[in-house]
Amino acid sequence: MNKAKRQAVIAGNWKMNKTRPEAKALIEELKPLVKDADCGVVICVPYTNLETALEAVKGSNIKVGAENCHWAKSGAFTGEISADMLAEMGVEYVVIGHSERRQYFGETDQTVNKRVRAALDAGLRVILCVGELLEQREQGITEEICAMQTKVALGGVTKEELSRIIIAYEPVWAIGTGKTATAEQADEVNGFIRGVVAKLYGEEAAQALTVQYGGSMNAKNAEELLGKEHVDGGLIGGASLKAEDFSVIVKAASR
Ligand code: PEP
Repeated sequence: MNKAKRQAVIAGNWKMNKTRPEAKALIEELKPLVKDADCGVVICVPYTNLETALEAVKGSNIKVGAENCHWAKSGAFTGEISADMLAEMGVEYVVIGHSERRQYFGETDQTVNKRVRAALDAGLRVILCVGELLEQREQGITEEICAMQTKVALGGVTKEELSRIIIAYEPVWAIGTGKTATAEQADEVNGFIRGVVAKLYGEEAAQALTVQYGGSMNAKNAEELLGKEHVDGGLIGGASLKAEDFSVIVKAASR
């Protein structure tokens, strides 16, 4: 019931893929395929592609996001990009706390929280990633992990600011592995995360929150996953690099 009131959002996470000409070609192919989407369509691209993407999506329904941002406004942080720099370019979204950042770049719940704060302060919308490792699922602590990651990341975020946050439940064991959570598993954890948010911000705010699923979502399994009450869209890695596949997922979310 409440699902119909929430905006479904399909966001592509291109990761470290595509040169600028390749990015432009992919977006040009994608635009006509998703123009009638009845859901939000976002592409999160490498920093080097942001300007190309912003130019290419002009006049379309596709929004552009970055894949990370630093928490400081500016300063001696060689190699980093601030949220203000992204906002100034016209970027609207930023992915924060992706498991690849946690796994390979020392991201912690605390730095995720600082980045979320900085992104909100800059006026950006945040796609906040949470999710358990395989051994944590096997230990039966999926809920504890997702609750802790969600609560720490949202520290200091007001109820008003929550409307600029999307939470993406991404079980780490399902990312880039071809191993998807079952629709039931995704729905169960997405619903649990919504419950955590309800305790922090109240039932109404939690019911309005977009909670995506991410982890090997593709053209074949999207419809089943997106049909679940608590799955309000998807964060799509591999399948976002193929216009046709990504558009099939967008169409499944538009139903
Ligand atoms: C991701 O990068 O967030 C992701 C879900 O990747 P994939 O779809 O390739 O599993």
